[in-house]
Amino acid sequence: MSNVGDPPIRLLMFTSDDCIYCPPVESIVREVVGGAMKDFIYVNTVDVNENPDAANIYGVHSLPTLMINDQIVLQGGMDDDTVREILWNTLLTLAVENKERVVKSKTSLLELTHNSWQSLTGTRMLRHNVGDFIHIAPYQLTLLSLYSLDPLVPTLVYQAGNQLGKYGIMFHVLSILEPRLGKTARRSKRLKYLLDALELYFSDKEVVPTYFADEAKALSYDDSSYTIEIKGLVSGALGIDVGEPMCDYTAGMLAGVTETLLGAYAVGEEIACAANRSDSCIFRITFGDNSTKRRQPREEDKIDINNRRLKFYESSHEIAVNLEESLFMRKRLRSIAGDFVHISSLQPIIVSLKLMDDFLGSILYSSGRELGLFGWGKTLLYEILDSMFEDEEEPYSLPLDIDSGVEGLYRYMTHPTTLLTKEWGVVRLKTTEIGDYMLNVYDYCAVAGISNVGKTLCDFLAGFLVGRLSVLIGYEASVEEVHCQGTGAEFCQFKITRNN
Ligand SMILES: [Zn+2]
Ligand SMILES: [Zn+2]
Repeated sequence: MSNVGDPPIRLLMFTSDDCIYCPPVESIVREVVGGAMKDFIYVNTVDVNENPDAANIYGVHSLPTLMINDQIVLQGGMDDDTVREILWNTLLTLAVENKERVVKSKTSLLELTHNSWQSLTGTRMLRHNVGDFIHIAPYQLTLLSLYSLDPLVPTLVYQAGNQLGKYGIMFHVLSILEPRLGKTARRSKRLKYLLDALELYFSDKEVVPTYFADEAKALSYDDSSYTIEIKGLVSGALGIDVGEPMCDYTAGMLAGVTETLLGAYAVGEEIACAANRSDSCIFRITFGDNSTKRRQPREEDKIDINNRRLKFYESSHEIAVNLEESLFMRKRLRSIAGDFVHISSLQPIIVSLKLMDDFLGSILYSSGRELGLFGWGKTLLYEILDSMFEDEEEPYSLPLDIDSGVEGLYRYMTHPTTLLTKEWGVVRLKTTEIGDYMLNVYDYCAVAGISNVGKTLCDFLAGFLVGRLSVLIGYEASVEEVHCQGTGAEFCQFKITRNN
């Protein structure tokens, strides 16, 4: 796996609570590093009263002291402009030198979260035709089909969340929710403000209306861990028992943001999950030096793979029932947040899995195919066929030929019922000169708003199309994503080859 987690530049800031020159310098650091430089730099704050050893080791004699990659660049109080100049000069030089090493996935994650932020604050809409929210059931089905396929997935999803917590704009969002967060150097206070901010982050419906969860509450904290309870979390509020926790993404994200804010290595685990016989999801985040135990693979990950798949298969049927009740009978699946969630809850999972490693593209593809074969919407698919053939003399029989199959798939993708979930926007079907099909999907939720990362990203959707089409034609046609918003196109284009 590529080493996407290691940023190239380290900035260490030594402070203490009684240092009067520290707060202005710290706020300039946040200002410089929080902007364009953020994806190049990893900031750690060290309180010399809490860590006298670190101060000795690095030869810190006066405060504040700034070290960049183990070189002291500033010591003692200075006027603001000098501080700014030193920071920009040192960091820009290093950033340019290290430019080649900046991993694309991190930049893309930043971009994604920046887009989401613009969407949430109403300055930019990512999907003009369908809006930026999707129904929670397709989100859950996507996650479920990923989890069912490979026991490695929970760990990967954790890593995706972890990167987002560390390098996304979550810190920025949390500081808006709790302004005192960026203004204190003492770790114990920071933790208290972090917990206040997290409670707001998962409950707020006005400043950051993501609708990720109903509400959150910090249950306990001490100097090496905290626990937080989240109700109605999108990945956990399935209304059914899947048999294992499903919220590794949030566990990773909480650990990531804690690590960045406290400057201490952090590990997250979900100790109770609403998808696994609990009323809510409860996370424990442990932090400390590097000896804090690494995240262990979960017990559930080792369970017999066939049983696990069967369990997930049953669960996906129950979610499909929930979905129909939510769409057609106005039954609410979540009491406070309602049944739609901002697309930023799903995008980083799909995008970072693909960008982490090309191999993971095949996991995404297989999971999508599984969902296409067995997932929600097959009854609708047969109803569509009935209406497609209602004027024919003979009743149709499966398998269909490829032309009728693709027509059926297209009608499914553009059916008002399917569109209610808001997974994608407009869909168009075209035929090439040699008779292959081009299915153009606009505003697919996983990639809407992303700019060119040089890769197609929608392996999951490609797999889904293969699976759904094979229900109709009886074999797996070749479906390849030839253009994607991830390669700079305006829409995602899937080529369905006529002859395999
Ligand atoms: Zn959960
Ligand atoms: Zn795409």
